[in-house]
Amino acid sequence: MIDAPTESHVIKAGGPSRRHKPPVDPATLEHRNLRQGEFWRAVPAYRDVDEATFLDHLWQARHSVKTADELLETIKDLADPSFIADARDGFHRAPMSVRVSPYAIAAIDWNKPYSDPIRTQFIPVGSKLLRDHPRLTLDSLHELDDSPVPGLTHRYFDKALFLPLSTCPVYCRFCTR
Ligand code: SF4
Repeated sequence: MIDAPTESHVIKAGGPSRRHKPPVDPATLEHRNLRQGEFWRAVPAYRDVDEATFLDHLWQARHSVKTADELLETIKDLADPSFIADARDGFHRAPMSVRVSPYAIAAIDWNKPYSDPIRTQFIPVGSKLLRDHPRLTLDSLHELDDSPVPGLTHRYFDKALFLPLSTCPVYCRFCTR
């Protein structure tokens, strides 16, 4: 069943009425409010890093966290020791490499690392890992079948996916590549 349109759904523009979606509730757009100030200085390893350095993408790439030891060295006692032990297990058992930029590390709420969405996206924890699906493959979307040359995937007739790099600044836990 579809709700009958309210006055706010219908805009009369000199002709037949056109239906529009209702306005978005501004409260749902909070994620667009990027953090201001030098928030990264709360992370022990970035305490003395100035803004120009922190926002330099080359510095970010050079200081990406790729191991559990690097994570511990970066955040020190920001997170609970039990979480660090869980993350160490996650790094050890994760089926893909870990790479987290300092920007992402600094954006994580280390008081609530288990419920933080950025931590969930980038840092594995052993307690959340599930057994591999029996039909898991390295190319689970079978993109190689639609790749006529390396670095190009052509699955849909009107779209092409170019892969100019083989690495990303961060590695998302849900990545299929
Ligand atoms: S390809 Fe996309 S999903 Fe995969 S790690 Fe890179 S940014 Fe994340």
